[in-house]
Amino acid sequence: MTLRFYTHPIYLEHLTPEGHPERPDRLRAIEKALEHEVFAGLERVEAPEGDPDTILYAHPQSHLDRIHVAIPEEGIARVDADTAVSPKSWQAALTALGAANAAVDDVFEGRADNVFVAARPPGHHAEKDRAMGFCLFNNAAIAARHAQRKHGAERVAVIDWDVHHGNGTQDIFWDDASVLYCSTHQMPLYPGTGAKHETGAGTIVNAPLSPGDGSAAFREAFRTRVLKSLDDFAPDLIVISAGFDAHHRDPLAEINLTEDDFDWATGELMERAGRFCDDRLVSLLEGGYDLQGLAVSVATHIRRMMKG
Ligand SMILES: [Zn+2]
Repeated sequence: MTLRFYTHPIYLEHLTPEGHPERPDRLRAIEKALEHEVFAGLERVEAPEGDPDTILYAHPQSHLDRIHVAIPEEGIARVDADTAVSPKSWQAALTALGAANAAVDDVFEGRADNVFVAARPPGHHAEKDRAMGFCLFNNAAIAARHAQRKHGAERVAVIDWDVHHGNGTQDIFWDDASVLYCSTHQMPLYPGTGAKHETGAGTIVNAPLSPGDGSAAFREAFRTRVLKSLDDFAPDLIVISAGFDAHHRDPLAEINLTEDDFDWATGELMERAGRFCDDRLVSLLEGGYDLQGLAVSVATHIRRMMKG
């Protein structure tokens, strides 16, 4: 298996207020975990800056303009109660979606079987016309549409195991049956969406978990709701909205997964990628706020993708 790993120093320059959980140290913790010798063979690539026009795959021009003018010349500005921007946030956001699109190009053009993108800001809460929940632009949604427009993918699956519901991705694909969006998440929890009855054009699949649920409930929901839907859908590409805040150490939620659960879920998705889409799998970092839980989970996820 050829795995590419994208990151960029600009991601560390997207600054959030003191004490904010979505902070540059998250990526530093991941980098440190990847210093281990088992990752010596990882193909590390510097993320390219993305084309701003690709933002329009998922958002109207008005949203792009609103974020652009919100970027301060100095200090930190807020675009939402939880979502901040600093002087380098525009470039960081463009490089986050640039890496997601480059990852799609890689798997369609044969440079890699699968790709992990360690970027910030994350994306899955960004709705068509609204930044929220630490997210400015929806990287997974843009990447899915990029696969359709540039590479002729007919059906793309976005699998979101972040502990929060990806309301933004659901919003963007609500009427679009060419994209399957499956999410496991804690409910009730921010942002409040993600009930089972929210099905959009029939290709939105929500599998809410209850506070206190752990490995068994997660795997059952993943098997019976997510994997079953994926098998029926037979995608041309699988994109993972890979948040690791369902880890038991995470301070933002009460789901008690371990890194072994992420290893298992990764393996299950790789098996489907092999069966349906010539191994094409693109994994994009979303949440994960306990540095130790995040680092060990990402390392486990990447090792699984390297092993095949
Ligand atoms: Zn999250």
